[in-house]
Amino acid sequence: MRAAGRVVAQTLLAVQAAAVPGVRLRELDELAQTAIREAGALPSFLGYRPAWAPTPFNGALCLSPNEVVVHGRPTGRRLQDGDLLSIDCGAIVDGWHGDAALTVHVGEVLEDDARLLQATELALAAGIAAAVPGATLLDVATAVDDVARAHGYAHLPDHGGHGIGRAMHEAPFVPNEPTPDAGRHRLRAGNTIAIEPMLHAGTRTSRYRTKKDGWSIVTTDGRRAAHVEHTVAVTDAGPEILTAPGASQGL
Ligand code: MG
Ligand code: MG
Repeated sequence: MRAAGRVVAQTLLAVQAAAVPGVRLRELDELAQTAIREAGALPSFLGYRPAWAPTPFNGALCLSPNEVVVHGRPTGRRLQDGDLLSIDCGAIVDGWHGDAALTVHVGEVLEDDARLLQATELALAAGIAAAVPGATLLDVATAVDDVARAHGYAHLPDHGGHGIGRAMHEAPFVPNEPTPDAGRHRLRAGNTIAIEPMLHAGTRTSRYRTKKDGWSIVTTDGRRAAHVEHTVAVTDAGPEILTAPGASQGL
């Protein structure tokens, strides 16, 4: 999983560097597919079709600009100055998965977007710090949610992280806000989970819809969203981020 995590981290860095005004989302996806395959890995997302999806996913990246919260598809849309773009990537090495996402400012950095992104990154960091042996998923969710609330942002409801390993999406569901079930799942050393806050500048009563493409989830009021994610191993030495840029070189 460390090897898969490294491929994901390196791919995200390459895509981040290429995410400039005028570039098409599809071009970013082509770059990612090349980077993943040249690293000896396979893209997890390409052809992926969960039960709710009307079609298999058409790329190696979920690319979600502005009001698209998650699951945006690589299209011919050109990036524009001031866009806030979530880039989500998965890769498989020897049957093991890595999954991570970052959000980037395209060109000009808008102040509101910078605040939203900073809070989302802090929420992820808090969730990761809580992922220690003996903690429950309620501890992780509460850590993420406390940061979101403190900054005045809301979650995309019913979406969150997940177990990960031989499959990209495994049990348990890793919520971003407290749920009745979260306290029942206790983390143990050796567990590997993806933690992924998805915050937006709306409220807990904000509404969302899935676009006609069957994948992209957007805020109906057009408010912008940020999404960041890491694959994390729970270890006795503390949480290990497997998808961190510069992650260790072991197996
Ligand atoms: Mg994920
Ligand atoms: Mg992901």
